[in-house]
Amino acid sequence: SWRYALKSYITNPETVDDGAVIFFNDEVTIIRDSFPKSECHLLVLPRSKQLSRGHPTSTIDSKFKNNFGPYVDSAINYVFKHFQDKFQVKKSDQDMKTEWDESVLKNKDIFVNKFLQIGIHSVPSMANLHIHVISRDYHSVRLKNKKHYNSFNTEFFIDWDDLPLNKNTLGKDKDIETKYLKNHDLVCCYCHENFGNKFSSLKKHLELEFNNHFEFK
Ligand code: 5GP
Ligand code: ZN
Repeated sequence: SWRYALKSYITNPETVDDGAVIFFNDEVTIIRDSFPKSECHLLVLPRSKQLSRGHPTSTIDSKFKNNFGPYVDSAINYVFKHFQDKFQVKKSDQDMKTEWDESVLKNKDIFVNKFLQIGIHSVPSMANLHIHVISRDYHSVRLKNKKHYNSFNTEFFIDWDDLPLNKNTLGKDKDIETKYLKNHDLVCCYCHENFGNKFSSLKKHLELEFNNHFEFK
């Protein structure tokens, strides 16, 4: 089933030849998402069978975080470097109301705080446990519908920093999906403008936002 499409990255990363694998060792495989929802979208996959088949909200405890934190950090470094190599912050017009300045691409902590999302989906669609490390631009041709966007831009996305959850109060999968993916308004992640249900308007707006913030080097 398509739910197991990530499996070969952890069972035999050395023989997968789709170009997605950027790092592996005995514990972990780090890949590029093949349907990236932003300019830079990576997945960190623990290779142990036991961890891989666990649900992320119950499997990611403090021991897990200690073990895999360093790999998450290397994925973060990869995304930061990718952005530094490819883009520069656009010199803003005087009337452009952004707090952005060049430090976003110079200082890693600022980049991570303002522009990175690290974490999991409350209801993953793929079976093998994975952690998303994704730039917060949502500027991608693969971002094709409301669910794609809202899976990262609502509480459907659980931040690495908020794990482990104190208590699993998430509710039923179907209810979570209806509340966040289907019914939740589309809200711009840069300026918080509300687009309601109008996905194509949001898409055009995200294109503008990206081009207002960044330019190619
Ligand atoms: P989930 O919604 O389960 O948290 O995210 C699974 C991710 O895996 C999605 O972002 C999807 O684009 C990605 N994905 C699905 N199939 C493949 C694949 O065959 N290769 C890679 N590299 N990523 C995939
Ligand atoms: Zn906006």
